Amino acid sequence: MSTQFANKVALITGGGSGIGRAIALAFAARGTAVAIGDIDPEGGAETVRLIEKKGSVGFFRVVDVTDSTAVEAFVTAVYQQFGRLDFAVNNAGIEGSNGRKITQYDQEMFEQVMDINVNGVWHSLRAELPIMEQQGHGVIVNIASIAGLLAMPRNAAYAASKHAVIGLTRSAALEYIRKGIRINAVCPGYTNTPMVARGFAQNPVMGEQLVNMIPARRLGKPEEIAGAVMYLCSDEAAFMVGQTMVLDGGIEAA
Ligand code: NAD
Repeated sequence: MSTQFANKVALITGGGSGIGRAIALAFAARGTAVAIGDIDPEGGAETVRLIEKKGSVGFFRVVDVTDSTAVEAFVTAVYQQFGRLDFAVNNAGIEGSNGRKITQYDQEMFEQVMDINVNGVWHSLRAELPIMEQQGHGVIVNIASIAGLLAMPRNAAYAASKHAVIGLTRSAALEYIRKGIRINAVCPGYTNTPMVARGFAQNPVMGEQLVNMIPARRLGKPEEIAGAVMYLCSDEAAFMVGQTMVLDGGIEAA
C-alpha cells in the first residue's frame, strides 16, 4: 500500500459507474478513503460496497453536478466527514446523442451535455479549490476525452463540452499551481463502460466498425484509465501541470 495514498481522502463525481467506479476502487486499494457523488443512488451505494470490500472507507451522497448548491454541499460534507481533501476527480459526464449533425441536434440535449460535462466540472472546481487552497495542497484530475482534442462529427456537443473541460483544466492549473494544487486531465478513448455499451446496444454494426478504427483493436478498460489517474495523483507526477494524458489505443496518433 503506497504511503502517498494511505489515510488520504479522494472525492469522485460520477463514481457510481464505469470509469469513476474504477478510479474509486484504485484509490481504495491504495488505502485512500473515497467519497462518491453521483446522481444514481444504486450505483453510488454499490461503489461504496466495493470500496469497503477492498478494506477502505467509502462515503456516498446523491448529487447532481449541474446544481452548484448541491455540489458545494457535497464537497463540504466530505470535508466535514474526513477533515481533509487530498484528491478530487471530476468525472461525471454524459455522452449526449451520437449520430446527429448540428442542425438536427436536439437543443435540450446540447444544453444538458454542456450543463453536466462543463458546468459540472466548473461547479466542482469552485467547491474543491477553496478547501485545497486552505490546506495548501491537493491534486485534481478532470476526466475529459479524446473528443476534447479531436473533432467528433455527429456529436459536436460532446466534443465542445470536452474541449471546454481541457480549457478549464489548463487555466485552473496555472491559476493554482503556486497554491500547491496540481490540476491535469485524462483523455480516454473508447472505454468499456455502460456509456459505451449503451451506444453499442443502439448500433452494434457501428460498434464493430468503431473497434476496427482503434489501432489497438479493442476498447480501453476502466482500470487502465484509473491507472493514469493514480499516476497523476502520485508524487511521481509532481511536475505534471495542466496536461492532458491520452489513453486511446492509438486513435490520436493515427
Ligand atoms: P458512465 O455512464 O458509465 O458513468 C457516468 C457516471 O456519471 C454515472 O454513474 C452517472 O450516474 C453519473 N452522472 C451522470 N450525470 C450526472 C450528474 N448530473 N451528476 C452526477 N453524476 C452524474 O460513463 P463512463 O464511461 O464511466 O464516463 C465517465 C467519464 O469519462 C465521463 O465524463 C465521460 O465523458 C468520460 N469518457 C468516457 C469514455 C468512454 O469511452 N467510456 C471516453 C472518454 C471520456
